[in-house]
Amino acid sequence: MGNGDFDVVIIGGGITGAGIFRELSATGLDVCLLEQGDFGSGTSSKSSKLVHGGLRYLKQGDLLLTLESVHHRERLLQEAPGLVEPVEFVMPLYQNRSPGKFSLGAGLFLYDLMALKKRHAFSNPGRMLCRLPGLKPEGLTGGYSFLDATTDDALLVARLVHEGLKFPKASARNYCTVSGIEPSSASGKRIVQVKDGITGNERELEAKLVINATGIRADRFHPLPDRNLRIRPLKGSHILVKKTALDLPSAVSLIHPADGRPVFLIPWEGVLLVGTTDLDAGSSTDLSIRANEREYLLEGVKAVFPESGIEQKDIVSSFSGLRPVISRKDAKPSDESREHLVWESDGIISATGGKLTTFRKLAWDVVKKAKSRFPHSIRINRKTCVFPAAAHSLNPVERRILGRYGGPVDMKDLERRKLLVPVGHSETVLAEIEIASGDPTVRHLDDLMLRRLRLGIVLENGGMDIMDTVKKLAGENLGWDAARWEREIERYRRIHRQFFAPFPEKAPTGGADE
Ligand SMILES: Cc1cc2nc3c(=O)[nH]c(=O)nc-3n(C[C@H](O)[C@H](O)[C@H](O)COP(=O)(O)OP(=O)(O)OC[C@H]3O[C@@H](n4cnc5c(N)ncnc54)[C@H](O)[C@@H]3O)c2cc1C
Repeated sequence: MGNGDFDVVIIGGGITGAGIFRELSATGLDVCLLEQGDFGSGTSSKSSKLVHGGLRYLKQGDLLLTLESVHHRERLLQEAPGLVEPVEFVMPLYQNRSPGKFSLGAGLFLYDLMALKKRHAFSNPGRMLCRLPGLKPEGLTGGYSFLDATTDDALLVARLVHEGLKFPKASARNYCTVSGIEPSSASGKRIVQVKDGITGNERELEAKLVINATGIRADRFHPLPDRNLRIRPLKGSHILVKKTALDLPSAVSLIHPADGRPVFLIPWEGVLLVGTTDLDAGSSTDLSIRANEREYLLEGVKAVFPESGIEQKDIVSSFSGLRPVISRKDAKPSDESREHLVWESDGIISATGGKLTTFRKLAWDVVKKAKSRFPHSIRINRKTCVFPAAAHSLNPVERRILGRYGGPVDMKDLERRKLLVPVGHSETVLAEIEIASGDPTVRHLDDLMLRRLRLGIVLENGGMDIMDTVKKLAGENLGWDAARWEREIERYRRIHRQFFAPFPEKAPTGGADE
């Protein structure tokens, strides 16, 4: 962290902080990003993995949010092949059930219009049953297909951090908690108190500007600008299900029979991602799926794919996140707006709410506010690409590796060493264990297994069965001795059991320490 004197200190290394970090680093300012856990370990690794316009926002009449989201989806599809990829969704329609054919058709027409591409189509019931074998035929009136995009949310954050770090005056530290922000009367700067969670060292940093991107905790350092607003943490849980239980050729958006909410079934990384719930979290820090959420998600799948026989035993893993939603009206959780909020006072700019998809729009809004403090340094260039070296035409594995980890890769060498083979039923190839472990921001085994790779949620038992392979391929990069590996495996096992297992164990404190 250099001499501890920065132009800007950013607190919070989720998608919001990482997006702002990349954007501000590119201006040449001296920027430091601090994250209390691992980068992306908060909400930003627990999303539905969609880079999407959000049909739901269209239904709520939020045309601007949908338009912005569609625009950013299209850009990311262009700029980040291998990391953001198109996905076809199918939405079956049933008699006397919402949505109706005409309202959904009109919504999808608008959705396509925003992207200036025609990508939706209607299928009659017969074609729907061919497209989605096992679909409930009773009352089926047809269905629509349309295009959106999926990503790996944790890797999107990690790549943004690394793109920011390419600029010489940028620095980023994970496992560094900010405990307070004080004004410094002499210099007019802010003093940021930081504790390094790995060394235990405490120090004070100075910054001309502090940016607070701490998600659901953003009002802790900086009260919201309006007393009618509050951050309303909404819990959303997902389950990952074995493909042998339900192997879908495309993603499916279905309407849950219990409450009419949309539930997504997304083929992702060799498993089926099913989510999400949407529940008031209140002041609870409970970050693992509960039995009622698991049952709700399974019930939604069984209502539309009754023959799948999908059961609790088919669940490979689960995860839960808290949406930092800015609430004005205490509406039903799913009716709350997902728009972000940026506010400024006393040398702090805060940003929270919003979506993974529109991280760059949020970053521009923050940078615009920061410009008054650095008028000579900041020039917003909305045309620059965040992820250079786009690789649209490469073979799928090379495209995947470049998209996820950036940088050059010697495919011939990886092939010669037989590292282009998938790990179990996942889409991760062995080479990725070696490449991901070379990331210097990997400080713990859980950073590697749960976020730089997703093997910890895609494989059964958190991937414990492949730990020897992980040690072999990551050993040289991580440089841990036998005792350190043992401690790391123990820590990883505990975190996995509490937050990512199909049936998580209750944390001894009842809280979250991930
Ligand atoms: C279930 C669910 C599904 C979703 N699906 C989608 C989707 O498909 N597509 C989409 O676009 N969006 C989706 N979202 C929304 C999106 O994931 C969130 O809006 C986004 O991840 C929020 O990012 P953030 O950086 O603001 O918060 P976070 O990711 O939570 O980051 C805040 C960070 O601040 C850190 N922090 C807090 N206090 C301190 C401190 N004192 N010192 C240092 N660091 C600190 C935390 O550790 C945390 O990592 C979903 C959200 C949920 C919950």
